[in-house]
Amino acid sequence: MKILTVVGARPQFVKAAALSKQIAQTNGIEEILLHTGQHFDTDMSDVFFDELGIPKPRYNLGIGGGSHGAMTGRQLEGIEKVLLEEKPDWVVVYGDTNSTLAGALAAAKLHIPVAHIEAGMRSFDKDAPEEINRILTDQMSSALFVSTDAAKENLKKENIAKHLIHEVGDIMFDAALQFSQVSKKPSWVLGTFLEKPFILATIHRAVNTDKPQNLSEIFLGLQKSKNQILLPLHPRTKEKIQAFGLSIPENVIIGPPAGYLEMLWLEQNCRAIVTDSGGVQKEAYFFEKPCITIRDETEWTELVDNGWNVLVGANSEKISDTIKNCRVGTTGLNLYGDGQTSSKIVKKLLNN
Ligand code: UDP
Repeated sequence: MKILTVVGARPQFVKAAALSKQIAQTNGIEEILLHTGQHFDTDMSDVFFDELGIPKPRYNLGIGGGSHGAMTGRQLEGIEKVLLEEKPDWVVVYGDTNSTLAGALAAAKLHIPVAHIEAGMRSFDKDAPEEINRILTDQMSSALFVSTDAAKENLKKENIAKHLIHEVGDIMFDAALQFSQVSKKPSWVLGTFLEKPFILATIHRAVNTDKPQNLSEIFLGLQKSKNQILLPLHPRTKEKIQAFGLSIPENVIIGPPAGYLEMLWLEQNCRAIVTDSGGVQKEAYFFEKPCITIRDETEWTELVDNGWNVLVGANSEKISDTIKNCRVGTTGLNLYGDGQTSSKIVKKLLNN
């Protein structure tokens, strides 16, 4: 069996690290990796391939930047060419980026079955580009691998046939379990006096970075908390801080985007996490850290329901109060499976 996997953005490299390893250990499957080039910096792409043992992509389309439509359109055209040449049995896509949508659409138009990993997630906010990508990709998929009960229910409500939906747990849990043993302290933190325990923050969603008002509210909230905050900066956030002329509060220590192993160290050693990332909300739970989410909604609703995650939006008062008062949630719930998601996915693909 031949699988062609489309990746392009940071969270997809983390997920591919778990699945590609499993595929490599399984007889009878060949995997070809296609990198769209959506994320291309060394910090946002190469470091993941180098450190996590992900096979070198056979194809790199080098298509990043530009508007959503232009990026997705160019990726669609590039992926189609590769699919016509490689003729895979399955196309695997992850999550909710433009690369996910382009990969699924290129395959569906050529009648190649699509496997969507992390299917069924919904924030119910169609202004977010990720939500459009999720809904459309699910509609085109022949195997929908869901992480949670809530995701399964979302798909049923959208009339996706039950036999296409496979509840397998969350692949990011596999990755976190595999790599947390070899996590490493980021070099930019080495010389820093760490007030124990610090707060880890990540900010990159367009809704927060693209509006000066929201970004400055977030920094004000971090400042008011008076905690030491470590913030590895996403390139988009860095660009916007400069463009808006914002200054970084003294208690916030910024660094370059962390590699995954560094990120795991930060997550393991912090007191709590402030984030607008989807994946980082789950990782906070994996490492039993309270999570303060700078969004008004989340796809990972079970984290909120069980007291692990508080949604605060870009509101400085709520951000600082919640950092000061946050607590862990209910333990022993096993919300994201048993860390064997990759092997379950590979078995299903082989049997289909
Ligand atoms: N991540 C990382 N370095 C960082 C920030 C995030 O390695 O500086 C990892 C994080 O641990 C998680 C994934 O990237 O595994 C989440 O990706 P991101 O936040 O970019 O996207 P989202 O999950 O919101 O789609």
